[in-house]
Amino acid sequence: MSDTSTLTHRAEAGEQQPRHRQEIAIRCEDVCKIFHEPIKGSRSLKNFFLGKNREIKAVDHVSFHVYRREVFGLLGPNGSGKSTLIRLLSTLLYPDSGTLTIFGHDVIKEQQAVRRLINRVSVEAAFFKKLSSLENLRYAARLYGMSPHEGQEKALAILNRLGMKPDKALTSLENLSRGMQQKVAIARALMTSPTLVLLDEPTTGLDPKSKRDVQEYVEEVMSSHDATIILTTHDMDEAERLCDRIAIIDNGKIVALDTAAELRRQVGADSLEEVFFQLTGKSWEDVQADEMD
Ligand code: ADP
Ligand code: MG
Repeated sequence: MSDTSTLTHRAEAGEQQPRHRQEIAIRCEDVCKIFHEPIKGSRSLKNFFLGKNREIKAVDHVSFHVYRREVFGLLGPNGSGKSTLIRLLSTLLYPDSGTLTIFGHDVIKEQQAVRRLINRVSVEAAFFKKLSSLENLRYAARLYGMSPHEGQEKALAILNRLGMKPDKALTSLENLSRGMQQKVAIARALMTSPTLVLLDEPTTGLDPKSKRDVQEYVEEVMSSHDATIILTTHDMDEAERLCDRIAIIDNGKIVALDTAAELRRQVGADSLEEVFFQLTGKSWEDVQADEMD
């Protein structure tokens, strides 16, 4: 597992300059998060709190770091611990052990500083669905401490960039496509900068066209913003397309971490699916299907 290879694939593709790697955005060292679940069939709540429960190691001794302006992918099947890691990064959960810092700030000791630097967008972006995109963005701007005037300007600029016509910008958000809602959510997360944007399965459940749209938007954001992005997905093509480096997670552990090209090269595989199989002995299709049961 290598954490030091250069960010090659974007540069090779001539899409943009390789991101400079001096500044570390996230430092995650030996982090663990354990959940407790009642033992199947157990009826006693008292027993649960007495410790008679099953431990789930959602994040199991995970270490990695992410550079500023990098798109870092967390690729794993359902239940592998991706969202738990995102929640730890966004201070919604505390690690049980290990250390986690965001731009040098500890997620436990300097929670407020961390919260000012991060933004999370999950599968179901949280909005006031009866309000319009414009109103939602203006509201967010006020939360981020902007003046009403600055908020309005910023919101209009974002909607303009998303190519949203006035009638769409003024309609309730619930009337927009889910793809467009996701784009508004990502744009909202980028209202402050420099930012660490946590995209938790931003394209899951979208139709192929909306999915492509959102992916293109993420690419556009990366070329125009001073943002660092963590993106979770169980879509291998998406990880390969968008991410500078990919951490493959299985059962709460990182089993590999590198650029997609390097991961394939290291195990002599043609696809990330095969990389996963070689490293875990499990087929991606089977793991995904198991989780759906
Ligand atoms: P992913 O996002 O990769 O699908 P999650 O991080 O949501 O995975 O979950 C990892 C594991 O932790 C799963 O086994 C899940 O059931 C468990 N888990 C997640 N959140 C909780 C919770 N609040 N309480 C108990 N178990 C949880
Ligand atoms: Mg998840």
